[in-house]
Amino acid sequence: MSVAAFIEKNKDRFLNELLDLLRIPSVSADPKFKNDVFAAAQFVKESLQKAGADVAEICETAGYPIVYGEKIIDSSLPTVLVYGHYDVQPADPYELWDSPPFEPVIKKTSIHPEGAIFARGSADDKGQFYMHIKAFEAMMASGELPCNIKFMIEGEEEVGSDNLDKFVLANKERLKSDVILISDTHMISMKDPSITVGLRGMAYMEVEVTGSNRDLHSGTYGGAVANPINVLCQMIASMKDENEHITIPGFYDKVQELTVQQRQRLNEAPFNLDEYKGKLDIADVHGEKGYTTIERVGIRPTLDVNGIWGGYTGEGAKTVLPSKAFAKISMRLVPDQDWHEIAQLFETHFKAIAPASVKVKVKAHHGGAPAVVSDSSVGYRAAEAAMEETFGKRPIPTREGGSIPIVALFQKELGSDPILFGFGLDTDALHSPNEHYGVKNYFIGIETIAAFFKHFRELSQQ
Ligand SMILES: [Zn+2]
Repeated sequence: MSVAAFIEKNKDRFLNELLDLLRIPSVSADPKFKNDVFAAAQFVKESLQKAGADVAEICETAGYPIVYGEKIIDSSLPTVLVYGHYDVQPADPYELWDSPPFEPVIKKTSIHPEGAIFARGSADDKGQFYMHIKAFEAMMASGELPCNIKFMIEGEEEVGSDNLDKFVLANKERLKSDVILISDTHMISMKDPSITVGLRGMAYMEVEVTGSNRDLHSGTYGGAVANPINVLCQMIASMKDENEHITIPGFYDKVQELTVQQRQRLNEAPFNLDEYKGKLDIADVHGEKGYTTIERVGIRPTLDVNGIWGGYTGEGAKTVLPSKAFAKISMRLVPDQDWHEIAQLFETHFKAIAPASVKVKVKAHHGGAPAVVSDSSVGYRAAEAAMEETFGKRPIPTREGGSIPIVALFQKELGSDPILFGFGLDTDALHSPNEHYGVKNYFIGIETIAAFFKHFRELSQQ
């Protein structure tokens, strides 16, 4: 039986198994779900075994385990490593869900006329990594597994993948592969398939500005002593010029400039500015001069205040001159900016621009490296060919504004190119109430992954 015929014949079972996995509330952030997170790992291990893996094991870490699986058919053939995560974001606020987050239901929507699975984790990432296990099963059952396959499915992606680095470093030999497939991103649309080739990194800072040693009466002292909230606002405002260019010295030194052709190709992605503004109910967009909206979120770094607080925010009025003001500030980074370096530049600059009337403290919370994936590697070309086969259209390479820090880790430590082979849509409500994943996306993903293996073997042997 062909791979396609096997998938067709087992459609209901493939779907029901995913629904079973979605019923396990594997929320890694909340200790109350600890047993469920372990249960999800067990589910993944058993799925790998049933699909035909020779090795399927739960590897303990200091946190939640990593499930490893493999099927080596011939060590002279290319090897594909699949990465995914079985943990999910918390489902709160529950009251905003139209159906309970861990009781999956299939409903039709305007974007998914053939139905979408509504459940926490359906798109991020259970529905997406499970496609790989089903594609593997279909290839095994049809006797057509063209490459060796390895799986590394972790349970801490939503809480920072704290134990993944260690695992990767300790298991480099075992994880050796020629390409890494990650399905944890989205495409432009079902009509316009795309492959993500760039992700932004991040540096997350918190600042504290202190004026006087206590809150003061704004009548007695106002106008004579620095108000740290006013000062903080001025400092933040000064960190961008009139062209929305970030003014921290050295900030752009390592930013990779794209060629005219690369920028053109990026801007070929279908994008309607009026629709974009309409959906957000904004009269105009805002951003760095000289760049399109696609470029602003894809290839340019940012600096944004995520929260700012201080002083009196209760009912009515209180005439206080506060002692302290705080802000959380994040910067999205692009290749080759290094987040440690950027955090340092921020700190130096923030301290330098603070007037003598205040004291400042700067703390770096966390960060992650930006990444760019080749759009001409054998892996990319195989992914392109596979999508062209199943979608009937050549995928567009895109840059996503978000961050997946593990991509840079894999590039550095494992040396093989990750392919961001996502099949979700940006309307899937990831991390939000009513997260969903198209039934059609699930099945076309399984077919495309199987096609990838065929093309990857062919292209590798050329
Ligand atoms: Zn994810």
